[in-house]
Amino acid sequence: MGAVTDWSQAQESRKHGHRGMAHSEKAGYWGKALGDLRAVSHHSWMAARHMAVYGTTSRQLGAISVAERAWACKNPEAKMYGRPLTIEDHQSSPILADPYHLLDLSLVSDGGIAFILTTADRAKDCPNAPVYVLGQGFGEVSADLWWEKKNFTHMAVPRARDQAFGQAALTLKDVDCCQFYDCFTAEVLFQLEDYGFCKKGEGGPFVESGAMGPGGSIRLTPAAASCPAITSATSPAWRNRSGNCARRKRGERQIKDCNVVLTTGHGGELVSPGMCSIHTSTLLGRQQVSESNFIVSNEPWQKPLPNIDKDNEEFYEGLKKHKFLVWRCKTCGASYWPKAYCINHENEPFAANMEWAESSGRGKIFAFNRHHMAFHPGFKDEIPYVYALIELDEGPLVSSTLVGSKLPKDVYDVGQKVEVVYEDHPAEGFTLPRFRIVD
Ligand SMILES: [Zn+2]
Repeated sequence: MGAVTDWSQAQESRKHGHRGMAHSEKAGYWGKALGDLRAVSHHSWMAARHMAVYGTTSRQLGAISVAERAWACKNPEAKMYGRPLTIEDHQSSPILADPYHLLDLSLVSDGGIAFILTTADRAKDCPNAPVYVLGQGFGEVSADLWWEKKNFTHMAVPRARDQAFGQAALTLKDVDCCQFYDCFTAEVLFQLEDYGFCKKGEGGPFVESGAMGPGGSIRLTPAAASCPAITSATSPAWRNRSGNCARRKRGERQIKDCNVVLTTGHGGELVSPGMCSIHTSTLLGRQQVSESNFIVSNEPWQKPLPNIDKDNEEFYEGLKKHKFLVWRCKTCGASYWPKAYCINHENEPFAANMEWAESSGRGKIFAFNRHHMAFHPGFKDEIPYVYALIELDEGPLVSSTLVGSKLPKDVYDVGQKVEVVYEDHPAEGFTLPRFRIVD
């Protein structure tokens, strides 16, 4: 296990008079000769940058340590159980690499963990209630290279988040508990912002309000993961605790009716020349992927608005009611989308012969592509996305993006059966139709 190896080697390094992870430095690494300590050097740049841009303070970062320790003190298995922490403790702890105090850093811990991953059908026969993997996403920031100077106040969250939530057909409001990767305090703050618990730049006041501690408005890292609390951020142990959380085995820390847990991971180099960091989102839940046919999005709409006019306003009204309307010929029943005269009865007066009718919302992929370039900035975080022509069972072709698939994207193919998923944007007052693969 990586954690054991790290810990053991760290002890070996210590014998030679080094502190930290001197053993893991790569030969030829740029900063070594200049005093670069790798993780702590690079992550503290990120914290310093967030402070410079948004006015975040050391006390606000310390609020994250205090909240996580408060959770640890509710967990008898936690390394720091019984050792409560105050903001004054944080502020008076030694500064290791400004702005980071000792109590902004994670602990090095060793341990072992095993997961059993099986099919949902097999899991039904197991003695313990299973926890389902609802969605898994992966993001990296190599699209924004380090010399573009964009990567210093966020993590590679957007694509990982959208993949995981899209697969699970869930939104942030469905999440009962989060286990964020917490190597350093600021990385927790970045994720709070990047996932949308608060706006970018507002993470400091948000954590200072006590939002992430016991009794706070969100259930964050109640397993008391790594920041001066229990274990190494690189250990998979926090993910196991997420499973326990969803399984409702957490004693005093148990969140009532915990059904969905978001866990995250991070790796790679944050700001090394030419390197990039990665981020993973995993959604675990007590129920399998929801079969509901709609998604509610409260994200601000930053893409072109739909063109709603007098010819299609009834169609958009139908979408809001989760109905996919098509034009139907009263004479022969042929269906059309968008508005069209019936090819069999084109001499009939349109208004008298054609009517809106509800379609099944089901069909097959007629043709599809993957867009790898964002032709509008609003789509930057979604590329590559699959844009498809769907042949509805009633006949007409409709175009839309494919989301929320339960299958890997490589299985998209012409002829695959799909169904409509209604994406509600209540704040904007419209609903858009997407499609997902059905078995
Ligand atoms: Zn007709």
